[in-house]
Parts: sequence; C-alpha cells; structure tokens
Amino acid sequence: MLIDSFGRTIRYLRVSVTDRCNLFCNYCRLPNETLLPNNRELLDFDELVRLLRIFLQLGIERIRLTGGEPLLRRNLVGLVQEISRLPGLQELALTTNALLLERYAVALRAAGLQRVNISLDSLKPQTFDAITQRHLMRPDLFAERQEQQGLPAVLAGIAAARAAGLHPVKINMVVMRGINDTEIVDMVHYAHQHGLLLRFIETMPVGEAGLDMADHFIPAEEILEQIQRHFARQLLPIAGKQGSGPARYFRLADSSAEIGVISARSRHFCDTCNRMRLTSKGSLVYCLGRSDRMDLKQLLRSGAGDEQIKESILAAVALKPQQHEFEQKEFYRPSNRMSALGG
Ligand code: SAM
Repeated sequence: MLIDSFGRTIRYLRVSVTDRCNLFCNYCRLPNETLLPNNRELLDFDELVRLLRIFLQLGIERIRLTGGEPLLRRNLVGLVQEISRLPGLQELALTTNALLLERYAVALRAAGLQRVNISLDSLKPQTFDAITQRHLMRPDLFAERQEQQGLPAVLAGIAAARAAGLHPVKINMVVMRGINDTEIVDMVHYAHQHGLLLRFIETMPVGEAGLDMADHFIPAEEILEQIQRHFARQLLPIAGKQGSGPARYFRLADSSAEIGVISARSRHFCDTCNRMRLTSKGSLVYCLGRSDRMDLKQLLRSGAGDEQIKESILAAVALKPQQHEFEQKEFYRPSNRMSALGG
C-alpha cells in the first residue's frame, strides 16, 4: 500500500499521455504557449505500461488518462488495451475535451476503458470558441484539424460516449465570472436531459493562464446558491456519493437532477487527497498545487530494476505535501501548466 506521511492512502494515479492539446482554453494555456512535440521526451508505451504495472503492484487501483488532449496520442486505443489488462486495476478512466471522441468511443470501450470525464464550459458556440480559442492553434501541428468543428464535435463526442456504454459520463465545467456563469442553469438542464453527471469546477490558479483567470473566480457556494435560487429548491447533499474524489455531490429537492462541485480553492480537500500525477515526460508529481516532482523516466532509462523503481515511488509518496500552495507565488512556473500536469 502507498501511504504518505500524513496517513493518506494513495490509490489513484492520473497519467498524462501528451502535453499537446487541440484547444487553447483561456484558463489552461497562454496564447503564446507553444508545445512542440518531442517524442523522445515522452514515455513510450513500453515504459509507461511497465511503470503502471509497478504502481498497481504498490497499491494504485484507479488510473485516469489525461493530458494535454489524450486522444491526440497516437494509438491511445492500443495503450488502453494494454493498461486495462494489468493485474490489480479496478478502474480505467479518461479525461478529454471530446473533440475526437465520436471517432474513438466504441474502440476505447472495447479496449477496456470504463468511463470518461468530458470538459465542456459552454453550450453557446460563440462562448465555447471564446474560451477554447481554437484560432490560436498552430495548424502545422495538427493534421487532424479538418475534423474539428468546435462545440458540435464535442456534443457528438458526448453522445458517442453514452452510446458506447462508457458510464457514467461526467461533464466538467470550469465556471468563470463574466464569461460563462450565466450558463450554470442551462448546463444543469442539459446534463439532466442527457443523463450526464455535471460537476462545476472552481477556476484554479495553476500555471500562468490559471493565474490570469483569478479575476473570474467564482466560489462553489455561489454556484450552488444560483442553482437553488433559480429552481427555488434546496440542493441536498448526497451522503455516500463523495466517492474517493474531490467532488461534493447534491440532489435538487424533488428531482432526480444531481450535480457536483469541486472547490479546490474555496474549500480545499487536501486531507482526503488520494492521488498522484505522472506527467507525459515521466515525472511523478505529488500535488497539483506544488512544484515538487520525481523524475521516473531517468530512472527507467538508466536501467533501474523494478525494485529500485518501487523504492523511488515509495520515497516520492513520503514526500507528498500536506496541502497545496496555490497562494504561494513561487509555484507559478511554466512547468506547472495544467496542460503538462493533466488537470
Ligand atoms: N484535454 C483534456 C480535457 O480538456 O479534459 C484533459 C486535460 S485538461 C488539463 C483536464 C481538466 O483540467 C479539464 O477539465 C480542465 O477544465 C481542467 N483545468 C485546466 N486548467 C484549469 C484551471 N486553471 N482551473 C480549473 N480547471 C482547470
């Protein structure tokens, strides 16, 4: 078992499979940010699968593939198939912007993917485009861009995920004052009508882009109040649905509509944190809100045996800090971009 210095058991690993993304979300990436792919820097599939096998032997039970945009990683379906067969794995999930999901949903499900979280911050095409800023993408880096049609592609991806039997499909909406906060109620209706589990996420000051969005921050309690006011009904906490993740879940009184909030900033949940993050370049990151990390790729490539890698992972777990330091200025280094940390 992986138990850190504060008695927390680490069972969950978020694995970024690429830094590349086919969107430029305003809270995640800066307009001048270029992410030139350098494939030698990335863990290859053999390295990644070997590491994940070791993590599972140590006590990790759940793995989430993220990025960047994970569907941009070549042969992600093959990777999913390999990971899903690893002994000890209880759950394999994916976080995606869904632009390419319509194409891959069935194959991913068949390969062993169980569920998917989809980022969707607006149902209005104009607002969607203003947040995701596709116009900033370097066309030469994205051969697949012909296929991208913005919001309609995402909605088609969501439908494809449901049809493929990925369950539940969760929708993550980052709420920003003055940008998409007028759509909170619309999103509740949309999610309820389509059988999706909606979660509202507070904008986090991670990376420079996240910091730039600080003026648009809305605390989760305000989001909850807005929903209660609109429906003139209470949001009742759902006991036992807390799961092992950071979301708090509520049901709208006299309705089957459920929503979650992830209040990383206004009400941190570090004391129940059960996760670590592996970057696409093979660094193990202990906490989203800190810059400390351990380079596992170097260890792998220096010929280390499994036992040595296990010892290093145990040492890394012991270094997991008690809580994030979002408010500490020294944290804001480019290497801490969300697109590199996997959200
Ligand atoms: N490309 C995939 C996607 O869009 O879901 C996976 C990577 S993305 C970095 C993972 C999650 O991080 C998304 O749900 C995104 O909204 C969230 N995220 C990125 N920057 C954030 C920020 N500053 N505050 C809150 N959430 C953020």
